[in-house]
Amino acid sequence: MAYIEPAPIKDEQNPFEAMMSRFHIASQILGIDDEVYNVLKTPVKQVIVSLPVTMDDGSIKVFEGFRVIHSNILGPSKGGIRFDQGVNLDEVKALAAWMTWKCAVVDIPYGGAKGGIKCNPREMSSGEIERLMRAYTLAMIEIFGPDRDIPAPDMGTGPREMAWLMDEYSRTQGMTINSVVTGKPLVLGGSLGRTEATGRGVMVSTLAAMEKLKINPYKATCAVQGFGNVGSYAALLLEERGVKVVAVSDLSGTYYNENGIDIQEAIDFRNDNNGSLEGYENAENMGGDEILTLDVDVLVPAATEDVITSHNVDKIKARLIVEGANGPTSAKADAVIAEKGIMVAPDILANAGGVTVSYFEWVQNRLGYKWTGERVNRRSDRIMKDAFDNVYKTSQEYNVSMRIAAYIVAIDKVARTYKYRGGF
Ligand code: GLU
Repeated sequence: MAYIEPAPIKDEQNPFEAMMSRFHIASQILGIDDEVYNVLKTPVKQVIVSLPVTMDDGSIKVFEGFRVIHSNILGPSKGGIRFDQGVNLDEVKALAAWMTWKCAVVDIPYGGAKGGIKCNPREMSSGEIERLMRAYTLAMIEIFGPDRDIPAPDMGTGPREMAWLMDEYSRTQGMTINSVVTGKPLVLGGSLGRTEATGRGVMVSTLAAMEKLKINPYKATCAVQGFGNVGSYAALLLEERGVKVVAVSDLSGTYYNENGIDIQEAIDFRNDNNGSLEGYENAENMGGDEILTLDVDVLVPAATEDVITSHNVDKIKARLIVEGANGPTSAKADAVIAEKGIMVAPDILANAGGVTVSYFEWVQNRLGYKWTGERVNRRSDRIMKDAFDNVYKTSQEYNVSMRIAAYIVAIDKVARTYKYRGGF
Protein backbone atom coordinates (compact mmCIF):
# COMPACT_ATOMS: atom_id res chain seq x y z
CA MET A 1 0.00 0.00 0.00
CA ALA A 2 1.26 3.45 -0.84
CA TYR A 3 2.06 5.52 2.22
CA ILE A 4 -0.94 7.62 3.16
CA GLU A 5 -0.26 10.47 5.54
CA PRO A 6 -2.22 9.78 8.74
CA ALA A 7 -5.20 12.06 9.05
CA PRO A 8 -4.21 14.56 11.75
CA ILE A 9 -6.38 14.16 14.81
CA LYS A 10 -8.31 17.42 14.84
CA ASP A 11 -10.67 16.55 17.61
CA GLU A 12 -9.36 14.14 20.23
CA GLN A 13 -12.91 13.49 21.41
CA ASN A 14 -14.13 12.39 17.97
CA PRO A 15 -14.47 8.58 18.06
CA PHE A 16 -14.46 8.24 14.27
CA GLU A 17 -11.07 9.93 14.08
CA ALA A 18 -9.85 7.70 16.92
CA MET A 19 -10.93 4.58 15.02
CA MET A 20 -9.45 5.81 11.72
CA SER A 21 -6.11 6.63 13.29
CA ARG A 22 -5.61 3.03 14.49
CA PHE A 23 -7.08 1.61 11.28
CA HIS A 24 -4.57 3.64 9.32
CA ILE A 25 -1.56 2.47 11.34
CA ALA A 26 -2.54 -1.20 11.15
CA SER A 27 -3.30 -0.97 7.40
CA GLN A 28 0.17 0.47 6.76
CA ILE A 29 1.84 -2.28 8.76
CA LEU A 30 -0.14 -4.91 6.86
CA GLY A 31 0.52 -3.16 3.58
CA ILE A 32 -3.02 -3.60 2.28
CA ASP A 33 -3.93 -2.31 -1.21
CA ASP A 34 -5.25 1.22 -1.59
CA GLU A 35 -8.38 -0.30 -3.10
CA VAL A 36 -9.13 -2.39 -0.02
CA TYR A 37 -8.15 0.46 2.31
CA ASN A 38 -10.68 2.71 0.61
CA VAL A 39 -13.40 0.06 0.79
CA LEU A 40 -12.85 -0.58 4.50
CA LYS A 41 -12.62 3.02 5.60
CA THR A 42 -16.06 3.90 4.24
CA PRO A 43 -19.32 2.60 5.71
CA VAL A 44 -21.52 0.63 3.30
CA LYS A 45 -24.70 2.45 4.28
CA GLN A 46 -25.67 5.32 6.56
CA VAL A 47 -29.35 5.82 7.35
CA ILE A 48 -30.79 8.78 9.26
CA VAL A 49 -34.50 8.85 10.06
CA SER A 50 -36.79 11.19 11.91
CA LEU A 51 -39.24 9.57 14.27
CA PRO A 52 -42.33 11.47 15.39
CA VAL A 53 -43.53 9.98 18.67
CA THR A 54 -46.59 10.86 20.75
CA MET A 55 -45.48 11.65 24.28
CA ASP A 56 -47.60 10.89 27.34
CA ASP A 57 -48.82 14.49 27.53
CA GLY A 58 -50.23 14.25 24.00
CA SER A 59 -47.54 16.33 22.33
CA ILE A 60 -45.53 14.98 19.42
CA LYS A 61 -41.76 14.95 19.69
CA VAL A 62 -39.50 14.23 16.73
CA PHE A 63 -36.45 12.07 17.47
CA GLU A 64 -33.45 11.48 15.25
CA GLY A 65 -32.46 7.84 14.63
CA PHE A 66 -29.36 6.38 12.97
CA ARG A 67 -28.20 3.06 11.61
CA VAL A 68 -24.79 2.74 10.04
CA ILE A 69 -23.68 -0.45 8.34
CA HIS A 70 -19.93 -0.29 8.19
CA SER A 71 -19.27 -3.62 6.48
CA ASN A 72 -21.04 -6.78 5.37
CA ILE A 73 -18.02 -8.50 3.91
CA LEU A 74 -17.84 -11.25 6.54
CA GLY A 75 -21.61 -11.73 6.73
CA PRO A 76 -24.79 -9.95 7.85
CA SER A 77 -23.96 -6.84 9.82
CA LYS A 78 -24.25 -6.92 13.61
CA GLY A 79 -24.30 -4.28 16.30
CA GLY A 80 -26.27 -2.68 19.07
CA ILE A 81 -28.66 0.25 19.33
CA ARG A 82 -27.71 3.10 21.65
CA PHE A 83 -30.19 5.44 23.35
CA ASP A 84 -28.32 8.51 24.50
CA GLN A 85 -28.53 12.27 24.34
CA GLY A 86 -25.05 12.46 22.78
CA VAL A 87 -25.71 10.09 19.83
CA ASN A 88 -24.48 11.55 16.52
CA LEU A 89 -23.49 10.26 13.10
CA ASP A 90 -19.71 10.30 13.68
CA GLU A 91 -20.10 8.32 16.89
CA VAL A 92 -22.37 5.73 15.25
CA LYS A 93 -19.96 5.44 12.30
CA ALA A 94 -17.04 4.74 14.66
CA LEU A 95 -19.04 2.25 16.70
CA ALA A 96 -20.17 0.47 13.51
CA ALA A 97 -16.57 0.11 12.31
CA TRP A 98 -15.52 -1.16 15.74
CA MET A 99 -18.19 -3.88 15.39
CA THR A 100 -16.63 -4.96 12.07
CA TRP A 101 -13.19 -5.28 13.68
CA LYS A 102 -14.60 -6.88 16.82
CA CYS A 103 -16.47 -9.64 14.96
CA ALA A 104 -13.35 -10.32 12.89
CA VAL A 105 -11.09 -10.51 15.98
CA VAL A 106 -13.26 -13.20 17.58
CA ASP A 107 -13.80 -14.88 14.22
CA ILE A 108 -17.59 -14.84 14.04
CA PRO A 109 -19.30 -14.57 10.64
CA TYR A 110 -20.67 -11.04 10.87
CA GLY A 111 -19.98 -7.61 9.49
CA GLY A 112 -20.35 -4.52 11.64
CA ALA A 113 -23.15 -2.02 12.22
CA LYS A 114 -24.47 0.27 14.91
CA GLY A 115 -27.65 2.18 15.56
CA GLY A 116 -28.67 4.95 17.86
CA ILE A 117 -31.40 7.36 18.79
CA LYS A 118 -30.68 10.78 20.22
CA CYS A 119 -32.85 10.71 23.34
CA ASN A 120 -32.68 10.57 27.11
CA PRO A 121 -34.37 7.31 28.14
CA ARG A 122 -34.08 8.24 31.84
CA GLU A 123 -36.57 11.02 31.28
CA MET A 124 -39.01 8.97 29.25
CA SER A 125 -41.83 6.67 30.36
CA SER A 126 -41.87 3.03 29.37
CA GLY A 127 -44.75 3.75 26.95
CA GLU A 128 -42.80 6.55 25.26
CA ILE A 129 -39.73 4.35 24.88
CA GLU A 130 -41.88 1.55 23.44
CA ARG A 131 -43.43 3.84 20.82
CA LEU A 132 -39.99 5.21 19.94
CA MET A 133 -38.53 1.71 19.55
CA ARG A 134 -41.43 0.55 17.38
CA ALA A 135 -41.19 3.68 15.21
CA TYR A 136 -37.45 3.12 14.78
CA THR A 137 -38.00 -0.54 13.84
CA LEU A 138 -40.57 0.38 11.19
CA ALA A 139 -38.28 3.08 9.80
CA MET A 140 -35.50 0.46 9.50
CA ILE A 141 -37.67 -2.34 8.17
CA GLU A 142 -35.73 -2.54 4.89
CA ILE A 143 -32.42 -2.52 6.76
CA PHE A 144 -32.94 -5.12 9.50
CA GLY A 145 -33.27 -8.85 8.83
CA PRO A 146 -31.80 -12.10 10.19
CA ASP A 147 -29.60 -12.41 7.09
CA ARG A 148 -29.11 -8.68 6.55
CA ASP A 149 -28.54 -6.67 9.69
CA ILE A 150 -29.06 -7.88 13.25
CA PRO A 151 -29.37 -5.33 16.06
CA ALA A 152 -28.76 -5.85 19.79
CA PRO A 153 -28.67 -3.79 22.99
CA ASP A 154 -26.08 -1.11 23.72
CA MET A 155 -25.90 1.84 26.15
CA GLY A 156 -29.42 2.80 27.27
CA THR A 157 -31.18 -0.27 25.82
CA GLY A 158 -31.72 -3.83 27.03
CA PRO A 159 -33.89 -6.94 26.62
CA ARG A 160 -37.14 -4.97 26.95
CA GLU A 161 -36.35 -2.78 23.93
CA MET A 162 -35.18 -5.81 21.93
CA ALA A 163 -38.53 -7.52 22.62
CA TRP A 164 -40.40 -4.53 21.14
CA LEU A 165 -38.12 -4.55 18.13
CA MET A 166 -38.65 -8.28 17.58
CA ASP A 167 -42.40 -7.93 17.94
CA GLU A 168 -42.71 -4.97 15.56
CA TYR A 169 -40.49 -6.61 12.96
CA SER A 170 -42.41 -9.91 13.25
CA ARG A 171 -45.76 -8.14 12.78
CA THR A 172 -44.64 -6.69 9.47
CA GLN A 173 -43.54 -10.14 8.27
CA GLY A 174 -46.69 -11.91 9.46
CA MET A 175 -44.74 -14.43 11.53
CA THR A 176 -42.45 -14.61 14.54
CA ILE A 177 -38.86 -14.03 13.51
CA ASN A 178 -36.77 -13.96 16.65
CA SER A 179 -33.38 -14.18 14.90
CA VAL A 180 -33.74 -10.57 13.70
CA VAL A 181 -32.37 -9.25 16.99
CA THR A 182 -30.25 -10.55 19.88
CA GLY A 183 -30.15 -9.69 23.55
CA LYS A 184 -33.85 -10.58 23.88
CA PRO A 185 -35.54 -11.71 27.10
CA LEU A 186 -35.10 -15.46 27.66
CA VAL A 187 -38.76 -16.27 27.01
CA LEU A 188 -38.56 -14.70 23.54
CA GLY A 189 -35.55 -16.71 22.42
CA GLY A 190 -32.85 -14.89 24.34
CA SER A 191 -29.76 -16.92 25.21
CA LEU A 192 -28.69 -17.98 28.64
CA GLY A 193 -25.50 -16.12 29.49
CA ARG A 194 -26.16 -13.16 27.14
CA THR A 195 -26.79 -10.61 29.91
CA GLU A 196 -23.45 -11.21 31.61
CA ALA A 197 -21.56 -12.10 28.39
CA THR A 198 -19.68 -8.82 27.86
CA GLY A 199 -18.59 -8.62 31.51
CA ARG A 200 -17.60 -12.27 31.39
CA GLY A 201 -15.44 -11.70 28.32
CA VAL A 202 -13.79 -8.77 30.13
CA MET A 203 -12.99 -11.14 33.01
CA VAL A 204 -11.52 -13.78 30.66
CA SER A 205 -9.40 -11.13 28.90
CA THR A 206 -8.22 -9.73 32.24
CA LEU A 207 -7.11 -13.12 33.51
CA ALA A 208 -5.37 -13.92 30.21
CA ALA A 209 -3.51 -10.59 30.34
CA MET A 210 -2.59 -11.08 34.01
CA GLU A 211 -1.03 -14.40 33.11
CA LYS A 212 1.20 -12.69 30.54
CA LEU A 213 2.14 -9.94 33.00
CA LYS A 214 2.66 -12.48 35.78
CA ILE A 215 0.14 -10.76 38.04
CA ASN A 216 -1.39 -13.11 40.58
CA PRO A 217 -5.19 -12.50 40.56
CA TYR A 218 -5.36 -13.25 44.29
CA LYS A 219 -2.92 -10.42 44.98
CA ALA A 220 -4.26 -7.95 42.43
CA THR A 221 -6.41 -4.88 42.87
CA CYS A 222 -8.80 -3.50 40.30
CA ALA A 223 -10.92 -0.40 39.63
CA VAL A 224 -13.97 -0.54 37.37
CA GLN A 225 -15.36 2.61 35.76
CA GLY A 226 -19.08 2.31 35.00
CA PHE A 227 -21.54 0.16 36.91
CA GLY A 228 -23.98 -0.70 34.15
CA ASN A 229 -24.36 -4.09 32.51
CA VAL A 230 -20.71 -4.44 31.46
CA GLY A 231 -18.96 -2.92 34.50
CA SER A 232 -21.04 -4.61 37.18
CA TYR A 233 -20.70 -8.12 35.71
CA ALA A 234 -17.01 -7.61 35.00
CA ALA A 235 -16.50 -6.55 38.64
CA LEU A 236 -18.58 -9.43 40.00
CA LEU A 237 -16.81 -12.08 37.93
CA LEU A 238 -13.35 -10.69 38.66
CA GLU A 239 -14.16 -10.71 42.36
CA GLU A 240 -15.26 -14.34 42.01
CA ARG A 241 -11.83 -15.12 40.51
CA GLY A 242 -10.05 -13.64 43.52
CA VAL A 243 -9.31 -10.12 42.30
CA LYS A 244 -9.90 -7.41 44.88
CA VAL A 245 -12.16 -4.76 43.32
CA VAL A 246 -11.30 -1.73 45.43
CA ALA A 247 -13.28 0.85 43.46
CA VAL A 248 -16.30 1.13 41.20
CA SER A 249 -17.92 4.24 39.79
CA ASP A 250 -20.96 5.60 38.02
CA LEU A 251 -22.28 9.08 37.22
CA SER A 252 -22.75 9.70 40.96
CA GLY A 253 -19.04 9.28 41.82
CA THR A 254 -16.13 6.94 42.56
CA TYR A 255 -16.70 4.50 45.42
CA TYR A 256 -13.49 3.30 47.06
CA ASN A 257 -12.85 0.73 49.75
CA GLU A 258 -9.29 -0.46 50.25
CA ASN A 259 -10.53 -3.80 51.65
CA GLY A 260 -12.50 -4.49 48.49
CA ILE A 261 -16.11 -3.75 47.62
CA ASP A 262 -18.72 -6.46 48.06
CA ILE A 263 -19.88 -6.35 44.43
CA GLN A 264 -23.08 -8.37 44.79
CA GLU A 265 -24.12 -6.08 47.62
CA ALA A 266 -23.34 -3.00 45.50
CA ILE A 267 -25.38 -4.46 42.62
CA ASP A 268 -28.32 -5.11 44.95
CA PHE A 269 -28.03 -1.54 46.26
CA ARG A 270 -27.99 -0.18 42.69
CA ASN A 271 -30.99 -2.29 41.69
CA ASP A 272 -33.04 -0.94 44.60
CA ASN A 273 -31.84 2.61 43.97
CA ASN A 274 -33.07 3.39 40.43
CA GLY A 275 -29.88 2.05 38.83
CA SER A 276 -27.54 4.42 40.69
CA LEU A 277 -24.85 3.95 43.36
CA GLU A 278 -25.72 7.36 44.83
CA GLY A 279 -25.73 7.03 48.62
CA TYR A 280 -23.84 3.69 48.67
CA GLU A 281 -22.32 3.66 52.13
CA ASN A 282 -19.85 0.81 52.33
CA ALA A 283 -17.21 2.77 50.45
CA GLU A 284 -15.86 6.29 50.41
CA ASN A 285 -17.24 8.50 47.61
CA MET A 286 -14.20 10.21 46.11
CA GLY A 287 -15.97 12.06 43.30
CA GLY A 288 -16.13 11.77 39.52
CA ASP A 289 -12.99 10.90 37.57
CA GLU A 290 -10.83 9.69 40.49
CA ILE A 291 -11.48 6.11 39.42
CA LEU A 292 -9.11 6.37 36.45
CA THR A 293 -6.02 7.41 38.36
CA LEU A 294 -6.18 5.17 41.44
CA ASP A 295 -3.18 3.12 42.46
CA VAL A 296 -4.45 -0.29 41.29
CA ASP A 297 -3.05 -3.11 39.16
CA VAL A 298 -5.95 -3.27 36.74
CA LEU A 299 -8.21 -0.55 35.37
CA VAL A 300 -11.42 -1.52 33.56
CA PRO A 301 -13.03 1.45 31.80
CA ALA A 302 -16.55 0.15 31.17
CA ALA A 303 -18.54 3.34 30.77
CA THR A 304 -18.17 5.27 27.53
CA GLU A 305 -15.81 6.69 24.89
CA ASP A 306 -12.81 8.96 25.36
CA VAL A 307 -12.33 8.84 29.11
CA ILE A 308 -8.57 8.20 28.93
CA THR A 309 -7.14 11.11 26.97
CA SER A 310 -3.98 13.20 26.69
CA HIS A 311 -5.30 15.17 29.69
CA ASN A 312 -5.21 12.36 32.24
CA VAL A 313 -3.17 9.51 30.74
CA ASP A 314 0.07 10.49 32.48
CA LYS A 315 -1.67 10.08 35.85
CA ILE A 316 -2.73 6.49 35.25
CA LYS A 317 -1.06 4.05 37.65
CA ALA A 318 -2.55 0.72 36.55
CA ARG A 319 -0.29 -1.80 34.81
CA LEU A 320 -3.12 -3.25 32.80
CA ILE A 321 -6.13 -1.58 31.15
CA VAL A 322 -8.97 -3.82 30.00
CA GLU A 323 -11.47 -1.95 27.84
CA GLY A 324 -15.03 -2.97 28.65
CA ALA A 325 -16.40 0.11 26.87
CA ASN A 326 -16.05 0.87 23.17
CA GLY A 327 -13.41 3.51 22.48
CA PRO A 328 -12.57 4.54 26.07
CA THR A 329 -9.01 5.55 25.12
CA SER A 330 -8.28 8.39 22.69
CA ALA A 331 -5.74 7.78 19.93
CA LYS A 332 -3.48 10.47 21.37
CA ALA A 333 -3.31 8.62 24.69
CA ASP A 334 -2.08 5.40 22.99
CA ALA A 335 1.49 6.67 22.67
CA VAL A 336 1.79 7.63 26.35
CA ILE A 337 0.33 4.28 27.40
CA ALA A 338 2.96 2.52 25.30
CA GLU A 339 5.74 4.68 26.78
CA LYS A 340 4.60 3.86 30.28
CA GLY A 341 4.65 0.15 29.44
CA ILE A 342 0.98 -0.39 30.31
CA MET A 343 -0.66 -3.36 28.62
CA VAL A 344 -4.06 -2.69 27.07
CA ALA A 345 -6.58 -5.40 26.24
CA PRO A 346 -8.33 -3.25 23.63
CA ASP A 347 -12.09 -2.82 23.25
CA ILE A 348 -12.41 -4.77 19.98
CA LEU A 349 -10.94 -7.77 21.81
CA ALA A 350 -11.88 -7.35 25.48
CA ASN A 351 -15.57 -6.51 25.09
CA ALA A 352 -16.29 -8.96 22.27
CA GLY A 353 -17.90 -11.47 24.65
CA GLY A 354 -21.26 -9.71 24.16
CA VAL A 355 -21.41 -10.08 20.41
CA THR A 356 -20.02 -13.62 20.68
CA VAL A 357 -22.98 -14.73 22.78
CA SER A 358 -25.26 -12.68 20.49
CA TYR A 359 -23.97 -14.92 17.73
CA PHE A 360 -24.84 -17.99 19.84
CA GLU A 361 -28.31 -16.55 20.41
CA TRP A 362 -28.82 -16.12 16.66
CA VAL A 363 -27.56 -19.66 16.01
CA GLN A 364 -29.94 -21.09 18.63
CA ASN A 365 -32.89 -19.11 17.18
CA ARG A 366 -32.19 -20.43 13.72
CA LEU A 367 -31.91 -23.98 15.02
CA GLY A 368 -35.03 -23.57 17.15
CA TYR A 369 -33.03 -25.02 20.01
CA LYS A 370 -31.79 -23.89 23.41
CA TRP A 371 -28.29 -24.37 24.78
CA THR A 372 -27.49 -24.72 28.47
CA GLY A 373 -25.79 -21.81 30.21
CA GLU A 374 -22.82 -24.05 30.79
CA ARG A 375 -22.39 -24.67 27.05
CA VAL A 376 -22.71 -20.95 26.26
CA ASN A 377 -20.08 -19.99 28.83
CA ARG A 378 -17.67 -22.74 27.91
CA ARG A 379 -17.78 -21.86 24.21
CA SER A 380 -17.58 -18.11 24.69
CA ASP A 381 -14.71 -18.44 27.17
CA ARG A 382 -12.81 -20.50 24.64
CA ILE A 383 -13.43 -18.00 21.83
CA MET A 384 -12.31 -15.10 24.04
CA LYS A 385 -9.18 -16.90 25.22
CA ASP A 386 -8.20 -17.99 21.68
CA ALA A 387 -8.77 -14.44 20.41
CA PHE A 388 -6.61 -13.03 23.20
CA ASP A 389 -3.79 -15.48 22.46
CA ASN A 390 -3.97 -14.73 18.75
CA VAL A 391 -3.80 -10.96 19.32
CA TYR A 392 -0.96 -11.40 21.81
CA LYS A 393 0.98 -13.55 19.36
CA THR A 394 0.42 -10.94 16.62
CA SER A 395 1.64 -8.16 18.91
CA GLN A 396 4.87 -10.10 19.48
CA GLU A 397 5.28 -10.91 15.80
CA TYR A 398 4.89 -7.31 14.62
CA ASN A 399 6.30 -5.75 17.76
CA VAL A 400 3.23 -3.54 18.21
CA SER A 401 0.77 -2.82 21.02
CA MET A 402 -2.13 -5.18 21.69
CA ARG A 403 -4.47 -2.57 20.18
CA ILE A 404 -2.66 -2.33 16.87
CA ALA A 405 -2.29 -6.12 16.88
CA ALA A 406 -6.06 -6.52 17.25
CA TYR A 407 -6.62 -4.17 14.29
CA ILE A 408 -4.03 -6.12 12.28
CA VAL A 409 -5.83 -9.42 12.98
CA ALA A 410 -9.19 -7.88 12.07
CA ILE A 411 -8.19 -5.91 8.98
CA ASP A 412 -6.20 -8.82 7.61
CA LYS A 413 -9.21 -11.13 7.88
CA VAL A 414 -11.69 -8.68 6.36
CA ALA A 415 -9.25 -7.65 3.60
CA ARG A 416 -8.54 -11.26 2.63
CA THR A 417 -12.26 -12.03 2.53
CA TYR A 418 -12.89 -8.95 0.42
CA LYS A 419 -10.27 -10.12 -2.07
CA TYR A 420 -12.23 -13.33 -2.62
CA ARG A 421 -15.57 -11.58 -2.90
CA GLY A 422 -14.36 -8.66 -5.00
CA GLY A 423 -15.93 -5.33 -5.89
CA PHE A 424 -17.67 -4.25 -9.10
N1 GLU B 1 -23.51 -3.48 21.85
C1 GLU B 1 -22.62 -4.56 22.08
C2 GLU B 1 -21.22 -4.22 21.58
O1 GLU B 1 -20.86 -3.07 21.44
C3 GLU B 1 -23.15 -5.90 21.56
C4 GLU B 1 -23.43 -5.95 20.10
C5 GLU B 1 -24.14 -7.23 19.67
O2 GLU B 1 -24.35 -8.10 20.48
O3 GLU B 1 -24.50 -7.30 18.48
O4 GLU B 1 -20.41 -5.09 21.36
